[in-house]
Amino acid sequence: MLELKVTNGNVFIPGAGFFQTQVGVKDGKIVMLGADLPEAVRTIDANGKTVMPGAIDPHIHLGIFNDFALECESETRAALAGGITTVGVFMGGAESYLPQLGSLIDIVNSKTSVDLFFHLSIFTPDQMAEMEQYYKQFGVTSFKFYMAGVRGVFPGVSDGFIYEGFKKVAAMGDRATACVHCEDQSLLDVAFDKVCRETPEGTLCDWANAHPNMAEEEAIMRAYYLAQKAGNRLYIVHISTKEGADRFARLCTEGDCRAFGETTSAYLSVDKKDDIGLFAKMLPPLRGATDVDGLWERVRDNTLSSFGTDNVSMNRAIKQAEKGMLGAMPGYPILQTHLPAILTEGYHKRGVSLETILTKATANPARIFGLYPQKGTIAVGSDADIVVLDLKKERTVKSEELFSYGDFSLYEGKTLTGWPEVVIKGGRVAYENGGIFIEPGAGSYLKRTL
Ligand SMILES: [Zn+2]
Repeated sequence: MLELKVTNGNVFIPGAGFFQTQVGVKDGKIVMLGADLPEAVRTIDANGKTVMPGAIDPHIHLGIFNDFALECESETRAALAGGITTVGVFMGGAESYLPQLGSLIDIVNSKTSVDLFFHLSIFTPDQMAEMEQYYKQFGVTSFKFYMAGVRGVFPGVSDGFIYEGFKKVAAMGDRATACVHCEDQSLLDVAFDKVCRETPEGTLCDWANAHPNMAEEEAIMRAYYLAQKAGNRLYIVHISTKEGADRFARLCTEGDCRAFGETTSAYLSVDKKDDIGLFAKMLPPLRGATDVDGLWERVRDNTLSSFGTDNVSMNRAIKQAEKGMLGAMPGYPILQTHLPAILTEGYHKRGVSLETILTKATANPARIFGLYPQKGTIAVGSDADIVVLDLKKERTVKSEELFSYGDFSLYEGKTLTGWPEVVIKGGRVAYENGGIFIEPGAGSYLKRTL
């Protein structure tokens, strides 16, 4: 007897298409697909709904402005309710990660409601020397390099440093990945100083002006060049500009680098003129409507491979939007609205195919980060992380109804169309009828292998 089966749904299997099939679950795994599955303890009728693999958000942050354990608990519940069943968390800092990771993983295993893996940012030669150890002890196979830093918080690293890091990633093999934040520091510095002189009280548009589009485009060229020379796999995080995405498309056509581009749901759905104002301050900044459209074109033609959120949770008290362009903190809680925002802007408004959208939200990040086919698909043997998606469901966003502790949303008062109805995590019904039915710690840390 099955523990769970999902019937009557339109089942999306990335790479294969949509099928009218039942999905059978036992011991946390998908064990059967077919027309007439055996009886199950619980049957979920997905009539009229899309059944998809749990989304994978490969790009989130936890514990930047608030306690890691607190955010690990509340924000992974927001993710879950939004149909995200696996997250990749970027960790940073100037210290060795070796003494920290064990206890962080213990926290993850006791607090998270989704499965979670780490990417480690590499800032120092000591950290670079330990990359192999991070893999051997903790199963970390992806590393991040910042071509530009955050003023007053941390500096970026040089091309020379990045090239050394890329060679180490290349030496780790095909399944190791270098993630890069692409913006040129010197172009930012000049623009930033000018904006600070002229409009220090600034708006979200001024904030965008302090981070010119060309700074992203230029840095993408350099990152691609360095990766070609070093021979590593490259993942460009949060591409936010039309210029950057277009340049990346040309590089990929002409070059032979194994390169992947990510954009985020915010860059695909909110522009710098939005009423939300400085609550949407972010690094890189939200851009213009031309960029939003340009990114969607690069989603459509498959230049961009995956969708993240770059979620940095916070509430209004931490955000301090009232402190103006310079005083407001960068980031926003966005996990629960990730899929609905992409479906609204891509599928409903622009007619981007559901297959394109869902593949970039599931199988692609799973493949890139070495989790496929355990994650990112609906297949016999895969983890039973399954979302029953109601594409037609409209919901007006009220941040107080979302699971994040954050008390604002980029979509406050806006209606998004396409929401998860049921989320199954590890074979259990985890989210249903607006409630969460698993305890913190039901998810776990994912060690990856090369
Ligand atoms: Zn980020």
